[in-house]
Amino acid sequence: VGCGICVRKCPFGAITITNLPEEIGAPVHRYGSNGFALYGLPIPVEGKVTGILGPNGIGKSTAVAILSGLLRPNLGKDATWDEVLERFAGSAIGDYLKKVAEKGVRTAYKPQYIDRIPKSYRGSVRELLKRTNERGELDALVDRLGLSHLLDREIDSLSGGELQRVAIAATAARDADFYFFDEISPYLDINQRILAARMLQDLASNKAVMVVEHDLALLDLLAESVHLAYGTPGAYGVITRPKGIRVGINQYLRGFLPEENVRIRSESIEFEVHAPRDEKDVPVLVEYGEFSKSYNGFELSAMPGVIRRSEVVGILGPNGIGKSTYIKILGGIEKPTNGRIDAKLKISYKPQYLKAESDVTVEALLRSITPDFDSSYYQSEFVKPLALDRLLDQSMTELSGGELQRVAIIACLSMDADLYLLDEPSAHLDVEQRMMAARVMRRFAESTERSVVVVDHDIYLIDMLSERLIVFEGKPGVRGIANPPCDMREGMNKFLSAIGITFRRDEDTKRPRVNKPGSKLDRAQREMGEYYYAL
Ligand code: ADP
Ligand code: ADP
Ligand code: MG
Repeated sequence: VGCGICVRKCPFGAITITNLPEEIGAPVHRYGSNGFALYGLPIPVEGKVTGILGPNGIGKSTAVAILSGLLRPNLGKDATWDEVLERFAGSAIGDYLKKVAEKGVRTAYKPQYIDRIPKSYRGSVRELLKRTNERGELDALVDRLGLSHLLDREIDSLSGGELQRVAIAATAARDADFYFFDEISPYLDINQRILAARMLQDLASNKAVMVVEHDLALLDLLAESVHLAYGTPGAYGVITRPKGIRVGINQYLRGFLPEENVRIRSESIEFEVHAPRDEKDVPVLVEYGEFSKSYNGFELSAMPGVIRRSEVVGILGPNGIGKSTYIKILGGIEKPTNGRIDAKLKISYKPQYLKAESDVTVEALLRSITPDFDSSYYQSEFVKPLALDRLLDQSMTELSGGELQRVAIIACLSMDADLYLLDEPSAHLDVEQRMMAARVMRRFAESTERSVVVVDHDIYLIDMLSERLIVFEGKPGVRGIANPPCDMREGMNKFLSAIGITFRRDEDTKRPRVNKPGSKLDRAQREMGEYYYAL
């Protein structure tokens, strides 16, 4: 079911990576005398979107600081610019660094954690965007990203998805030689991800655009080539030479980089080509009737459905369609306007937007939730796979977005409950962490016979994780319809036909790849009504 290999066979050691190959030479940069070392640099190419694919803490921001002239590379010692240019002489990156050394290169940068923007900026969307409107392209960007109705809103009143699109527009509006986007997908739904991707591709028609992205289906669609980054987060990172996007993602999923002769993971990640069969004889956890919820201007109608024991149900739908409202009602956190959920279920809920409530340490928090913290089961099923062991002594308020997300996922699964509801667990996680989180949730549901419901926009994650799907339809911000849970094939077809994209299978890894709109395969699959599981 879903990603069979990842979920069943991929060993828990997947997060630790290889030793540094000896022939790699001196680092490009090292912090302090014994700090993090970066090997290799990505190369921005005019007229192209170049991707970077790798874990967090591997030196991507360091590389960008170097490429934008904010940080002079020290070659691991105390090198001068002359020594740096000599080392890279005759290469494309050498030519680029020469420009950086001589007059500086103009850079525009979208940071990873947009949640921090409201803390450093006060004012309206219009005022913020006006300040970055250096190319005079702002109106077009606002239009393409669907921001016109937000212009008079205060920055600190925006939802995550709105803030993300404003940040993308603000960065693209600048006049620079080199644009760097540290993730575009967090908080965006699939439609918005695709719109942002097309916008970046147009920006790259005469600029160099570089993107870090952990949504692999999106990265595949967006970038022409990709640098893979591997190493030990926090200790050292190696950035490979560019690879074609298809080959690069395939190598990453396989866990082996042939040109570099490096294994970055002990097992390959693969996808099921066929939809899993819907098993009907599993005991029911909860059967609910129709219910609805009205907010001022928004109406959610949920059709009756059944959630079974020990299954993972994925939820797909655009932003503002009522997914969060729906799971809150399912969990008894919100009351429906009409209808009710009768079952007396114990619920554990991970909200979409996370905030550390107190400055207890991660370990103290987990211990306060579960008596099993010291058991080897708890350590091997929860703590190790999401690499929480390195965070245990840290205070909750010190954690980065991705760290907080990993702790919140495990905290949610650590509660004693009947039904586990997780709203967008992939936000801020890198590719390895998403796959490990998917595996942890799946194994948890199977081994404890608990039911898990997950809202997410990452199609690969939903594919790996879910046995059935709830697909939302309607008009965002106005009306949402929650369909009953259905099997994967039906759900994917319903969801993808609504947004008008089809997936083919990569011939090597069988991973799903977005078809070019109007291509032969795209047309054939639409005709057959097979948007995801066509052969
Ligand atoms: P990424 O962008 O891939 O998440 P970064 O380039 O931000 O990674 O950081 C890579 C490593 O370098 C991290 O371990 C980080 O703590 C360390 N680091 C980043 N900036 C500095 C600095 N100014 N001084 C010392 N260490 C740093
Ligand atoms: P999704 O999770 O699919 O993005 P939500 O359930 O968060 O959607 O929201 C659906 C709609 O309901 C949105 O238009 C949102 O603004 C509105 N909404 C959500 N919660 C509230 C609330 N507490 N009060 C008023 N409106 C709300
Ligand atoms: Mg939501």
